[in-house]
Amino acid sequence: MAKKIEEIRNIEKEVLNLTTSPLYEFRVSNNYLPVVGEGSLHAKIMFIGEAPGRNEAKTGRPFCGAAGKILDKLLGGVGIKRQEVYITNIIKDRPPKNRDPVPEEVKIYAPFLDRQIEIIKPKIIATLGRYAMEYTMTRFGLELELKPIGKLHGKSFKAKAPYGKIEIVILYHPCVAIYNPHQLPNLKKEFKILIQTKPST
Ligand code: URA
Repeated sequence: MAKKIEEIRNIEKEVLNLTTSPLYEFRVSNNYLPVVGEGSLHAKIMFIGEAPGRNEAKTGRPFCGAAGKILDKLLGGVGIKRQEVYITNIIKDRPPKNRDPVPEEVKIYAPFLDRQIEIIKPKIIATLGRYAMEYTMTRFGLELELKPIGKLHGKSFKAKAPYGKIEIVILYHPCVAIYNPHQLPNLKKEFKILIQTKPST
């Protein structure tokens, strides 16, 4: 456990000093914090979102704003405690105006995500939204299975990580329910896949 804590701390330090990031200046000039991730370092399930929003960048905690409230509701709906999972994003700094990440940003931050996956070794990686889906599926050799998220949400894929077999579960981003509250029951239904998926050993 001490080793995992130290490895995550190293990532936190490196991201904090990531002056080469195109988002570094924006972070510093707004007094924002990087958002590396939080949760159990022994989590079976890792959630990967897109990028921190304003609340997240102010606190340094992932999914603590409006999308986070929905995520908490969705987790509660399937009896999963937030402390038992690990929650992170591909991009560790807030993009201005919450715009979509650009490839250069994915390139600079994704190696940190890869290290987090290696440290935590989740059996299930749940992607939240299109960017996390695209990155994770490509990372684990599923690029030929990629389709628009409208076609893949609610599905799960078997993949192989260096530490063993994993399931990649494709979910809509919780913010879908901010723009369209009628989607909440669908999201709730889809979260059930997380408790139905039996990770292969
Ligand atoms: N949206 C994300 O993708 N990540 C967060 O941490 C918050 C909102």
